[in-house]
Amino acid sequence: PADLEDLVARYDVRRTDAPTPEDERTSLLAKPKFGTVFTDHMARVSWRAADGWSGRRIEPYGPLQLDPATAVLHYAQEIFEGMKAYKHADGSIWTFRPEQNARRYARSAHRLALPELSEADFLSSIAALVRTDVEWVPEGEDSSLYLRPFMFASESFLGVRPAVEVEHLVIASPVGPYFAGGVKPVSIYLSEKYHRAGPPGGTGDAKFGGNYAASLLPQMEAQQRGFDQVCFLDGAESTYLEELGGMNVFLVMADGTLHTPELGSILEGITRKSIIQLARDRGYEVVERRIPARELVDGIGSGQVREFFACGTAAVVTPIGRLASSEFDVEANGGEPGELTMALRAELTDIQYGRAEDRHGWMTRL
Ligand code: PMP
Repeated sequence: PADLEDLVARYDVRRTDAPTPEDERTSLLAKPKFGTVFTDHMARVSWRAADGWSGRRIEPYGPLQLDPATAVLHYAQEIFEGMKAYKHADGSIWTFRPEQNARRYARSAHRLALPELSEADFLSSIAALVRTDVEWVPEGEDSSLYLRPFMFASESFLGVRPAVEVEHLVIASPVGPYFAGGVKPVSIYLSEKYHRAGPPGGTGDAKFGGNYAASLLPQMEAQQRGFDQVCFLDGAESTYLEELGGMNVFLVMADGTLHTPELGSILEGITRKSIIQLARDRGYEVVERRIPARELVDGIGSGQVREFFACGTAAVVTPIGRLASSEFDVEANGGEPGELTMALRAELTDIQYGRAEDRHGWMTRL
């Protein structure tokens, strides 16, 4: 879009004097370590209540200097996004439905009393960074450049009120295949004791750091019991399925319908939204509703629930092979990846990597 190009052109690009040497970068990209290796630059835009967003720039990647009274360190006024840049066979670089991330970022900002960044401004910060660090987008099956936009209250002030100084940054980390050695079903512990973000009206539908902080103890306890991930139940009645710490969930029923928890207190995943569309394209009925955990457990036992899977940007689609709590322990689909689960996974990744026609216009070239 023209306004996107105008905004990217307005970026002040301050390149690092010490870029990562090419051979070092090549070896980092050959075996990407997600979340520990970052590209040479970061994008940054500053907000002041008096004059709005300004100072659009690309800077060398590096530490931030924060006053100890910086508001985010005390009251967690912070949001983030997660998305990926994919390299296609012809070398072009693409993102998947970035306008959806932009809109969710604006909704999260609203909930956390942070300033909204326009869709064009969000996209241009991504594009400016990816174009600067284009050599960092890995090639190869299921590799990508993970993009992490985030916004935080940078004002030094200990009063509890929305900050009048805020920073938006984008950093990027190369990622390899989530499942090295093939897709493997994960085991899930249903958290009866803890919730992540409260009932509707809480922060569950915002991509807010505090939700993730609240998920760490339940996740740690589940791992101590030998499980990969936690599935949270609703914060009001502890009865209905919500989502995993970083993924939405779907049930494939024996009657050929797909069911997924309704929106309200969960994050509206872009993968979730896309899976709903792809399943409907295939003629499946998709139902968004409150799903009692009991119904899932009984359904797995009786065969009413054929497949159970999780989805999100990081792992795309992940089969769930086992579900347990203090009261039950059941195996879904014989502990094997489900057929529709894997078909939807393949269809989505084929679109993202440019191996299939982008019939919904989901891809944006950077
Ligand atoms: N739920 C939560 C809590 C998440 O953190 C994520 C990852 N952003 C998702 C669901 C999946 O969202 P998406 O498909 O947009 O990655």
